Amino acid sequence: MNLTERDKAHLWHPLTQHKLKPNHLPIVKAKGSSLYDNQGKEYIDGIASWYTCMYGHCNDSIISKIKVQLDVLDQVVFSGFTHKPAIELSEKLMAILPSNQNKLFFSDNGSTAVDVAIKMALQYFFNKKEKRTRIIALEDAFHGDTFGAMSVSGLSVYNGPFESFLLTIDRIKVPTKDNLKTVITNFKNLVDTGEIAAIIYEPLVQGANSMRMYDADLLDELLAIAKENNVIAIADEIMTGFGKTAKNFASEYMLHQPDIICMSKSLTAGIAPMALTSCTQKIYEAFCDDDITKGFFHGHTYSANPLACTAAIAGIDLLVSKEIQDRILEISTRHLDFETRIKNHKNVNATRCLGVIFALDLKVKMDRYGSLRDTLFNYFMEEGVFLRPLGNTIYILPPFVITNKELERIYEVIENALELV
Ligand SMILES: *Cc1c(COP(=O)(O)O)cnc(C)c1O
Repeated sequence: MNLTERDKAHLWHPLTQHKLKPNHLPIVKAKGSSLYDNQGKEYIDGIASWYTCMYGHCNDSIISKIKVQLDVLDQVVFSGFTHKPAIELSEKLMAILPSNQNKLFFSDNGSTAVDVAIKMALQYFFNKKEKRTRIIALEDAFHGDTFGAMSVSGLSVYNGPFESFLLTIDRIKVPTKDNLKTVITNFKNLVDTGEIAAIIYEPLVQGANSMRMYDADLLDELLAIAKENNVIAIADEIMTGFGKTAKNFASEYMLHQPDIICMSKSLTAGIAPMALTSCTQKIYEAFCDDDITKGFFHGHTYSANPLACTAAIAGIDLLVSKEIQDRILEISTRHLDFETRIKNHKNVNATRCLGVIFALDLKVKMDRYGSLRDTLFNYFMEEGVFLRPLGNTIYILPPFVITNKELERIYEVIENALELV
């Protein structure tokens, strides 16, 4: 039996209706910006495998550091023990995180990083005996698939069976120049109840919501109100973090910094699942007490896995290198050129760009996972480019190490696809 047949026997894939999509393509190898299937066909990974492998697949410098670590310390309980990879990672992160961040809490994936952030915010006020139990989220956000993260997510098409079990969340619209006044009024009215503990947002780019982008100055106005009213600002930087917006963190585009930041995805350069929730000293201090129950009793078995920490250290070393910083600028410039090239195409409705993120909306109506989406996906794969259109949006979020030639190939294939619409 081939791999696809063997896969079908026991495996259940994420975000998949197996009745409609029974077959899964075996990927046997990856290197740099390329994936290789079991027939030897090469695909340019145009979305860095969900924005994780930003320094390229099987990056030699990262692998060599992990190999060294693997001979020294593989795994140890992080409650009661500590280790050098975690400590070194904390120091490297503090050098690039917004300066108000001071403590780091480990978990395993983006959703748990968000759950940790929500629990931190709620317990912060609980410990302070302030009755603040409500959380505000932005409409159409995506923060993950665990119950807490699902609750603050607005893309609820798939959440039907769980709706009555979710946290009650107040929602406001993503601010735009046109709706800003209303959004601010709504936000203020919620804050004025005195019951709002936190606001969670994806800074500047809502990834799963078709890479919708919004302006820093508008978000800053909301953050200013949050700050004035002691509402905890939680930035979900799981997608935007680590250079994708051309700054280390998208939060750097704003004057007002978040109190809590969620990180995952490219944190470990695509090598291992790990996540971090960072917070300010002020939040941390609300948990420090002679009373043990005021502590944060949340902990995942694999917290701060030394191998994952080593991957993260290696990733940050690359991120801050001149080589990668130059690539980020080069890709951003090329995206802007490509935008100019296609924005007036008859089948293009809108385009947007920030850092290495590029997105275009097609001038057609289609379902998020409808048939045109599949046609496009299949066409891209035939042409050797791995992209995952979201509804009528095609986006590129390539590894930083993608070559100019590979990037040009992605642009070309997208241009050709515009003719298929
Ligand atoms: C991917 C993502 C998550 C969820 O992360 P998982 O590791 O898939 O649980 C949360 N928020 C944002 C912005 C994401 O892009």
